[in-house]
Amino acid sequence: MAVAVVSDAEQPHLGKFLRASKAFQPGDLLLREEPLLRLRRWQDALAAANALRKAQLFVPEGESPSMRRLQQATASEADPETALFVRSVVHFNSFGAGPSGREQVVFPTLARANHSCLPNCLVDADLGTLRAVRPITIGEEVTVSYLDDAGLLMDVKSRQKELQERYEFRCQCRRCTSVDDTRRFSCTCGGDQLPERGRLRCQQCERSSEGSELFEAEEKAAKSLEAARSGDLEEEDEGHELMKCHRNLAVKVCSQPVDFVGKGQRHSIPDSTTLHDSLFLGHYDSIVQ
Ligand SMILES: [Zn+2]
Ligand SMILES: [Zn+2]
Repeated sequence: MAVAVVSDAEQPHLGKFLRASKAFQPGDLLLREEPLLRLRRWQDALAAANALRKAQLFVPEGESPSMRRLQQATASEADPETALFVRSVVHFNSFGAGPSGREQVVFPTLARANHSCLPNCLVDADLGTLRAVRPITIGEEVTVSYLDDAGLLMDVKSRQKELQERYEFRCQCRRCTSVDDTRRFSCTCGGDQLPERGRLRCQQCERSSEGSELFEAEEKAAKSLEAARSGDLEEEDEGHELMKCHRNLAVKVCSQPVDFVGKGQRHSIPDSTTLHDSLFLGHYDSIVQ
């Protein structure tokens, strides 16, 4: 198999996760599998309880805010124990599918993929496929995003908040542990400009600039993002808002593209437009069905 389900005694927080058994290029298919459960109505879910038990997917142990909410939601069911089990497996392991992403699908192997805000793979829950969106080396952890496209564009704090509330973990990916790349822009000197007291300041050449064009574009982009994440838009409108966000961010403020993948030891931080391209637009083109 091209991916292996493994665990690492030195990194217990990863749980059981996916590791690439060979190298992959963007667009490569790592895995295709049938779902354990494709959920349209809750009544159907209970019938899948046995299959879900056998798969032994992740469910947090002990008390937690999500588990308490799920407990309340299942308390009046005929078989509350089974209902709670199934709901919690779905809550922590499913991917959105169907025309509007409202169906939930649970896969035995894909469910093991951990989240990263800079994922190296993309899941298509309708097809049951896992494809590379960046080059993956042999032995590397295979990651996907639990956040949607708009979610990946949010700043570190908002991403962490959403992941904590929904999935109850603290993301420690490269994007979450370095300076907020959604507010970092490249300078003509090759350094990185960061917002500082309403102005932009380059960390390398220390040049300070007004950056008003950028801040304005950023504000517009933030509004589009908010609209895209409002939850009451059709998929098409969400896409439209995201494109608006992309166009707003594409206002020419960076004269030099930043290497997103990073060279050697140093991980270069992208400017927002590069970030947007790297996260979404680029890889959708490279993926063949
Ligand atoms: Zn992260
Ligand atoms: Zn500079």
